[in-house]
Amino acid sequence: MCGLFGVYGHPEAANLTYLGLHALQHRGQEAAGIVSSNGRTLNVKRDTGLVADVFDGAALEKLPGKAAIGHTRYATAGSSDLRNAQPLTIEYAHGHLAIAHNGNLVNAGTIKTRLEQSGSIFQSSADTEVIVHLIAHAREPDIVDRVVSALKQVEGAYSLLFLTENKLIAARDPHGFRPLCLGRLKDAFVFASETCAFDLIEAEFIRELEPGEVVVVDAAGKRSLHPFGKAPPEKFCVFEQVYFARPDSRVNGQSVYRVRERLGRRLAKEHPVDADVVVPVPDSGIAAAIGYARESGIPYDMGLIRSHYVGRTFIEPQQSIRHFGVKLKLNAVREVLDGKRVVVIDDSIVRGTTSRKIVKMIRAAGAREVHLRISSPPTTNPCYYGIDTPTRSELIASSHSPEEIARYVTCDSLGYLSVEGLLDAVEAGRDESGERTGYCAACFTGNYPVPFETPDAAGKLIRLRRPQEELET
Ligand code: AMP
Repeated sequence: MCGLFGVYGHPEAANLTYLGLHALQHRGQEAAGIVSSNGRTLNVKRDTGLVADVFDGAALEKLPGKAAIGHTRYATAGSSDLRNAQPLTIEYAHGHLAIAHNGNLVNAGTIKTRLEQSGSIFQSSADTEVIVHLIAHAREPDIVDRVVSALKQVEGAYSLLFLTENKLIAARDPHGFRPLCLGRLKDAFVFASETCAFDLIEAEFIRELEPGEVVVVDAAGKRSLHPFGKAPPEKFCVFEQVYFARPDSRVNGQSVYRVRERLGRRLAKEHPVDADVVVPVPDSGIAAAIGYARESGIPYDMGLIRSHYVGRTFIEPQQSIRHFGVKLKLNAVREVLDGKRVVVIDDSIVRGTTSRKIVKMIRAAGAREVHLRISSPPTTNPCYYGIDTPTRSELIASSHSPEEIARYVTCDSLGYLSVEGLLDAVEAGRDESGERTGYCAACFTGNYPVPFETPDAAGKLIRLRRPQEELET
């Protein structure tokens, strides 16, 4: 997953992008980068690490110009080394081009193989680079036409920002898997994955880009294109609402905080329990725990405290003290938990290791009973559209029932939100046949809206609609 920010028409473009990326740090902590344009050429700075580590005043001064795009990276395709940090930049026959991508292309492997066979040399292992090559190969004289021609060949999830010497181009894939918003700051246009970035720089939120929309900003102003023909059904990622987006953002027309509160309320209705206190796993479970507490009438309290100084870049010490794991991030508050029947709320269980440690920690702090409630359904399938989930076999819910998972994590009871409950809480629509519309919930249902590419036993890329492991069993 990744965060995108862009600005066109502001003398402090790089500084604003730096601030915007700070607000989008939660969308990617492995690398950060900014490319600016001074109208003649592009300047770039990108590196592995957090936004605050990558940039300082001197670095930002070397990014002059009135337009910039930036990226925070969370590796979903390609390894997490510097070669894959974005924005990617190229100099080619038509000048300079930078690209920043959030999402995951499902046919990048096939396109890459085809391009390599005709002589292309790839610099990175990221799927994003195929878009750059497709643009370079395109025959159209105009950059916007070249971008559209490239995007017509890729499939999957993409929210994209492109920067040339004199244009900023923003695009969302026809299904609209990933968010991308348009805003205004005085005379400048701004773009961001989430509205929380606009709040920070005091930009006005105008609207989200529509699925399949391409917005071009240049000296002539802003124009919007819908070049992909008839729109396929919208498939906004439901996990953005459950976990990924910041609760102070609005995505897909809704307040993320309110959605999560509703998830918690629904969870309380579906899985009530007699208990003394509702405790969130901070930060991901907070809004849902507030909803659960409000609906159930059980008091809410902070029985777990999170250290905000442990990043993903933390280097684990030697084996003998590794088991500290979750303890580095979370600690229990004995005064809240001792002697209590506790309902713990988290947003999801992936491998199950975190929940197991949390349950043990809460018991060690004196809790009498620990009831785990999860504000989403069992995560049974990997995401091929940009969320960093492990393979299917590592997802505990792909092979274990909730009862078995409860035994593994050692809680007294476990309740997951139902798929219907989730889709009601995000206010998903319904078509004439009663099917839910508007969202991709493949990680919970296994219904993949766009077939994904995967190597078969012989290493040949094939397209599937269901995870391979499932086909084999
Ligand atoms: P696990 O130990 O694998 O079960 O981790 C579950 C925890 O990871 C939950 O508290 C979630 O909030 C969090 N989580 C869920 N999905 C992701 C993701 N894609 N990246 C990072 N953390 C996640």
